[in-house]
Amino acid sequence: MTVTVRFAPSPTGRIHIGNARTALFNWLFAQKNKGRFIQRFDDTDVARSRQEYADGTLYDLHWLGIFQDATEYQSKRFDLYDAAVEKLKAAGLLYPCYETPEELDLRRKIRRTRGLPPVYGREALALSPEQVAEFEADGRKPHWRFLLPNFASDPQEPQRTEIHWNDLVRGEETVDLASLSDPVLVREDGTYLYTLPSVVDDIDMGITHVIRGDDHVTNTGVQMAIFRALGAEAPVFGHHNLLTTVSGEGLSKRTGALSIEGLRDSGIEPMAVASLAVLVGTSENVQAITTMAELGEHFDLAATSKSASKFDPDELLVLNRALLHRMPFSEARDRLFLLGVSDERAEPFWMAVRGNLDRLGDAEAWWRIVVDGPKEKPEFSDEDIAFLRTAFDLLPEGPWGASVWKDWTNAVKKATERKGKALFMPLRLALTGLESGPELADLLPLLGREGTLARRP
Ligand code: GLU
Repeated sequence: MTVTVRFAPSPTGRIHIGNARTALFNWLFAQKNKGRFIQRFDDTDVARSRQEYADGTLYDLHWLGIFQDATEYQSKRFDLYDAAVEKLKAAGLLYPCYETPEELDLRRKIRRTRGLPPVYGREALALSPEQVAEFEADGRKPHWRFLLPNFASDPQEPQRTEIHWNDLVRGEETVDLASLSDPVLVREDGTYLYTLPSVVDDIDMGITHVIRGDDHVTNTGVQMAIFRALGAEAPVFGHHNLLTTVSGEGLSKRTGALSIEGLRDSGIEPMAVASLAVLVGTSENVQAITTMAELGEHFDLAATSKSASKFDPDELLVLNRALLHRMPFSEARDRLFLLGVSDERAEPFWMAVRGNLDRLGDAEAWWRIVVDGPKEKPEFSDEDIAFLRTAFDLLPEGPWGASVWKDWTNAVKKATERKGKALFMPLRLALTGLESGPELADLLPLLGREGTLARRP
């Protein structure tokens, strides 16, 4: 059977690094097993879902290097869910309930004071046809609950019923169905909660492995029961830990915090995001991995920690620098072109500046310095001006070879008796306007003799 996975966010906001992590786990799993990756949008909540968020999610995934084999929208699949509802109703496994949230709340409180678990007591199963008719006459619409298989013959007498699975991340897992309320699958207004459509789709799309956050562990117990009720075998499950901010808060699509879009806009490279997302909270060191194929070799679901992982955005910059420092020109060329770095100096320029970049976009400022000179004219003491004039008068004639910087500074050293910082800092300032930056030996040939002389104070 072809390994088939899905990434199933609801398009209610742009995806953040935690969502991307789920997508990456699924993607790398599919790649490793030569499988398929389905992009499924859980947009049954029509009011909150937006096409622009779905489009944005696809853009973000492609930017990261994740490419779907198929794209599905739950909002286009209601017929299938309706058919599943009919099947469950016919089997007596979906029953109508008329309680209001206030009634349910009161019942929970009463159960608690009696020392009973605060689960739904299946009172609706005992409604007589007359009571139902009365509710309907009052205009009350039912919500529908799935009857969990946690009893021998009397639903009012639930007994411990363990559902087991061997989790790809967590190992042996057990959920006791008697500890749960019968889940609501369909709301009063006929809309679907996530639970049933997800199972219907997993069956219909031939999903073999469900890899998702560990906030779904309990759902899995319920959903495995629904798979069975629909006559299907449940897929293999893997529940990874969730990311939190450094202060321990969860990430949310709604706040837009650490969105992939925001990280991209701030100049973070996709492989910096992917490296951190996949390696954080594993036994592996977090390091900058250059390609998705290589990241796949470091990917091991079973090595992911079982408790939440703290995530520090500052680490992204460290990884970003590491990626840029060794990025070949071939990879940077097109992006440099868009920044205006386009003449024959582009490649030596890249090799000169890449080691100094936090973000690729920072190359633009360096290019402007190479082409136009320092952004602001540096201020020099009279002494330094005299030194610099002597130095510039000693600039070697062309054509320049590879050793021009060395030849020049040796000559300046001899003539002025300056050395070290006293020699180099005024030169650096005159040439670039900045106190630090790429090796001047690499920059000088880019400026050329004329460009260099133009910087003479
Ligand atoms: N839409 C669900 C979520 O974002 C999908 C969970 C799942 O993968 O089954 O939490």
